[in-house]
Amino acid sequence: MDCCSHEGRTVGDARFEIKKVADGVHAAVAAPAYKVNSNTAIIESDDGVVIVDTHSKPSAARVIVERLSEITTKPVRYVVNTHFHWDHWHGNEVYPAVYPHAEIVTNQLTREAMVRKGLKRIQDHVRQVPREIAQLKADLAAARAPAERARLEADVRLAESYLAEVTTLRPALPTIAFEQTMKLYRRDREIHLLFLGRAHTEGDVFVYLPKEKVVITGDAVIGWTPFMGDGYPEDWVATVDRLAQLDFTQMIMGHGDVAGRDWLAMFRGYVHDMVDAVRAEVAAGATLEEVQQRVPERLAPVYEKPFSLYGHYRPWRAALRANIERTYAMVS
Ligand SMILES: [Zn+2]
Repeated sequence: MDCCSHEGRTVGDARFEIKKVADGVHAAVAAPAYKVNSNTAIIESDDGVVIVDTHSKPSAARVIVERLSEITTKPVRYVVNTHFHWDHWHGNEVYPAVYPHAEIVTNQLTREAMVRKGLKRIQDHVRQVPREIAQLKADLAAARAPAERARLEADVRLAESYLAEVTTLRPALPTIAFEQTMKLYRRDREIHLLFLGRAHTEGDVFVYLPKEKVVITGDAVIGWTPFMGDGYPEDWVATVDRLAQLDFTQMIMGHGDVAGRDWLAMFRGYVHDMVDAVRAEVAAGATLEEVQQRVPERLAPVYEKPFSLYGHYRPWRAALRANIERTYAMVS
């Protein structure tokens, strides 16, 4: 399909592969891109649709609305945000505009984080992305290899379209917030929204479908190296262990392809071993520089390959260095 038009109308440049996960449950898996988009879960019930996460910009959510017609004619009733990061809620405004009865749901911690930090970051992006674009253009001017030039040209286009959208964003905050758990009971389905402890953020929401044995993890579990800049590395494994106690076979993660419990074990292993290694180094009095040299070499044999599936968009070593820095600061 052509990237940006559908019946002559411009929808957006975000790309998704829609995969059936169970009867009435689909994952819209976002293609990795310079301005990242989260995945979306699409859960159909007798009276309407639940959507989980809305990407980094309204046009990406509009692509999902457009493609929903391939799946169902039912209206979207609930939009769940798994956490407060830009790439999971900036598209919120699209749903109440298209479906007047749609409610946006998250937990209290995440709603507060959106108000305290998320709104400010929108203004930060408006200020910072022009510098980013200037840097990309400088890199492009210096680039010689055709493949690199093509990638940088695409990145410039994505950065410019993101800037245009974030500048005119009308942030739609959640209209319903819960504390620990919220359950939606539908004739044909149960949908549990759960808080299991801190991990990627202070308020990660998991969406669990017990009958279908599917869990939607947000960014507490993803298909590449996690971002820990707002995270709690020392709490993360315990939260993942609580997740592992649920009876499920498939995970729709915040980023990356649909996965099973084998990937959960790999992901848990990475977080556990990284935190453990940094802790041991700190206990022995190592400087951050020493930790940055030694821990990657220790982890690479097991983790470098599986965490490098998504190529240059998420280089493992660069992400690992950031994870180590965050963990070092939290442990010290
Ligand atoms: Zn994300």
